[in-house]
Parts: sequence; C-alpha cells; structure tokens
Amino acid sequence: MSLESAYPVKLNDLYRDVIMDHYRRPRNKGTLEEPSVSIDLNNPVCGDEISLQLLVRDGRIEKARFMGRGCSISQASASMMAQQVEGKTLAEAEEMIARFKQMMRGDEKAGETLGDLIALHGVSKFPVRVKCALLSWEALERSLEQLR
Ligand code: ZN
Repeated sequence: MSLESAYPVKLNDLYRDVIMDHYRRPRNKGTLEEPSVSIDLNNPVCGDEISLQLLVRDGRIEKARFMGRGCSISQASASMMAQQVEGKTLAEAEEMIARFKQMMRGDEKAGETLGDLIALHGVSKFPVRVKCALLSWEALERSLEQLR
C-alpha cells in the first residue's frame, strides 16, 4: 500500500469536491417574490451570469437567492456566498466581502472564517478565474450599496 493510497483525500481534492458539489447542487438558487434589492451582473471574460436577490428586514439579510449560469467557480462561489450571507447583518455581510476579497488576493487566513468558501482560496493563483469567483460578491456589494 502506497502512502498515496493511505491518504486518498488530498486537500486539493477535498476543495475541488466542495466546489463541484455546490456547482452541481447549488444552494439558495431561485428568486424571491418581493426582494428588497435585485442585482444582475455578468463577467464577459468567461460568460458568467449572476442575478442576486436579497430580502432584508431590520438590517438583517433574511433571504438570499441567486440565479445564474457559467463556470463552476462562478456558480459555486454564488451558491456558497448566498448560503452563508443569509441571516447576517448588513455589517457582517460587508465584513464577509472584505475577507473574501482579501482571500482572493492570496491571503488564505482571511478565508478561515468563511466556511466552505475556503475551498476557493486556490483560485487566487489564477487572475482570470478570480473574476469568476468575485462576480457574485460584486453583486452582493452593489446590493448593499443600494440598501444604504
Ligand atoms: Zn467563469
């Protein structure tokens, strides 16, 4: 038995599995009947599209839903973002955006409080793909700006 087979789950494989799981079975996908804010963005470089809707009550994101199509990184990032931003205050959501952007600049530690999203930290090595990962976060950022 080789060392390789003794440790079949390498970290990169684990991260890839997390990304593919969110891509194939996206969480929080759909639309809201009466969203507080709705933002559509696309990334022409890759052809990714994201439409994000938030329902905000008393300064808290009660519901986050997205529709979209495109590469696995853009859609998995949207799925994980929408899932985790639900229930957060607007200030907490802003903090999440700051941390995710920091992680996309190569700071892995910044992603440690972001749950499954840490799986995307490797994307920071590929500038073209960073745009894919950031698309839904830019939609979130613009949503928060509109709510201000
Ligand atoms: Zn993409």
